[in-house]
Amino acid sequence: MVSIYMIISPEPVQSVAASSKRVKTRTHLILDAVDLTEMRSLMVVALFLSCLPTWGSAGAPDTSIRPLERPAVRIIKEEVTSVRPVIRPRIISQTRQRQRQGLGATVTQVASRIARGSQGSVCGDSTIKGTKISPIPGRIRGCGVRNPVKLTEIDGVGLTQPATIDCNTARALKAWVKDGVKPAVGRRGGGVKSLRVAAHYTCRTRNNRTGAKISEHGKGRAIDISGILLNDGSEITVLKGWRTQREGRMLRKMHKAACGPFGTVLGPDSDRFHQDHFHFDTAQYRSGSYCR
Ligand SMILES: [Zn+2]
Repeated sequence: MVSIYMIISPEPVQSVAASSKRVKTRTHLILDAVDLTEMRSLMVVALFLSCLPTWGSAGAPDTSIRPLERPAVRIIKEEVTSVRPVIRPRIISQTRQRQRQGLGATVTQVASRIARGSQGSVCGDSTIKGTKISPIPGRIRGCGVRNPVKLTEIDGVGLTQPATIDCNTARALKAWVKDGVKPAVGRRGGGVKSLRVAAHYTCRTRNNRTGAKISEHGKGRAIDISGILLNDGSEITVLKGWRTQREGRMLRKMHKAACGPFGTVLGPDSDRFHQDHFHFDTAQYRSGSYCR
């Protein structure tokens, strides 16, 4: 490489000329012979050199005509090698960290949206909200709930207090709210907001009478509803509304709609114990629902 570079530069040509002058001072014959030999050599070299650029452009590993470009290439190399180990890992790590944080935030947001959508859902129904609670052992024989839930909302309608019942009863309550309460109330008062829960799980005998059978309330299969709260803040109560014309009609519709989803439906017309609430339970009777 270096030798070829020497040939390219004007210096070798001068040295050839100088040597020919020195030879000229000795003998003419030798000079001619030397001149001819050197001329041939120069022609071969010139021919060789004229071919070099073509080889270089053809992609051959030609290093002879690029000695001046080398320092520039070396500078680029130095820049690259000095920049890479210091800056790149930091940039990459920061970028990846941001990506991870961004991804993490997105995953968290999505997860929280999903959680909100089905948050507190129980009984395998996204519209039945509440919490699953531990089995309730009976205080007395015949009481207790094997798989109770603490119900807080049903089909978008709240409860004035969490109701402890089983899932079968929760599903019946949902059917009543959806197909009985909502259609009966309609747009009145801005629609149904919540149910006033008068009683749910409680270990007691029927109507609290000594010696009577254990109430369905003591088995987590009953719920008592005393009123329907509306979105405008008003309330339709069983006690005041049952014997009025307008609210009475609505309440009777609701009472009737409960027959079917529930096995037992009791209202103000049944007995003196149910003047201020509806009693609903999922006890099954051979003759179908018992509705009074
Ligand atoms: Zn009851």
